[in-house]
Amino acid sequence: MYIVTVDTEKCVGDGNCVDVCPVQVFELQDNKAVLVNPDECLGCDSCVEVCETGAITISEG
Ligand code: SF4
Repeated sequence: MYIVTVDTEKCVGDGNCVDVCPVQVFELQDNKAVLVNPDECLGCDSCVEVCETGAITISEG
C-alpha cells in the first residue's frame, strides 16, 4: 500500500490533487487538501506532478 502525506504548511488549496486523483483520496477543507480516502491510493504520482508547491509525498508502506 501507499502512504500519502500532505504538508499543510505548503498546501495552498488550489485543488489540483482533488481534480487529478482517480480514486478521490483528497478533499478540500478550509482551503487545504485533506486525506479522506488514503487507503485507496494507487501510487500513480499524478497528484505529486500537479502539486505546484510540492506539498504531497507518496511512499510505499
Ligand atoms: S498517487 Fe495517484 S492515486 Fe495516490 S493520491 Fe496521488 S493521484 Fe491519488
